[in-house]
Amino acid sequence: MNEKVRDRKLEELKTQLEFYRDLGVAFLVSPRKPKGPRPEARADSPLLLSYSSGGGQSTADQAEWERLIRKIMACQACPLFKGRKQAVPGEGNRRAQLMFVGEAPGRDEDLQGKPFVGRAGQLLTRIIQAMGFSREEVYIANVIKCRPPENRTPKPDEIRACSPFLLKQIELIQPRVIVALGKVATDFFLQSPKSMSELRGHFGQFQDVPVMPTFHPSYLVRNEGNKEIKKMVWEDMKKVLELLKS
Ligand code: SF4
Repeated sequence: MNEKVRDRKLEELKTQLEFYRDLGVAFLVSPRKPKGPRPEARADSPLLLSYSSGGGQSTADQAEWERLIRKIMACQACPLFKGRKQAVPGEGNRRAQLMFVGEAPGRDEDLQGKPFVGRAGQLLTRIIQAMGFSREEVYIANVIKCRPPENRTPKPDEIRACSPFLLKQIELIQPRVIVALGKVATDFFLQSPKSMSELRGHFGQFQDVPVMPTFHPSYLVRNEGNKEIKKMVWEDMKKVLELLKS
């Protein structure tokens, strides 16, 4: 390893450890999941089922996923299709125990076709890693699959038009827990007039799946120096881990 690469890796590690310190992570969780792979995943041995591989899924499930992704990519059900480079369906383990749902793709996501790849995405990745998972072991999606202009908040009719896609993803994945990132995702699942500060940290229920609302990673980015917000998010994630262990 040459010096430049080593220095860059050390710098990345330092940033990561500082972030964990700010979160208030008292320990680094083992990279193995708290409750082992789901039986369905174990049956076919590969635990990590990628966005496109479909490994470990039944043929019917694979076909459903392919149909769903094709529909999303070609969808013109709301005006947001006009401004997108591409739709962003979501990615990760299609049999994940843990699912993260955010608001909508931003500029980087629209360009790359992947959810949470910008600065907020990097923070989310670190949070996922602090929980002992990799991005490939969870499923990450958004309520809205196409980027709203200037990253504005999606409108109610856009959310309505797009909601069948997220509902189908949840039906196929059957996660044990959903983490709702920010108010749009939280409203989608819980439809509460309360603020994020009131809702976060308390499990709600959506179609029998526990939903943990927490702050959106972009809120952490906007309040980078605020360690209290980071600590609150980590407190919420510890509750999610407890539930997964139970
Ligand atoms: S945001 Fe959803 S409903 Fe609107 S065009 Fe994109 S995929 Fe279709």
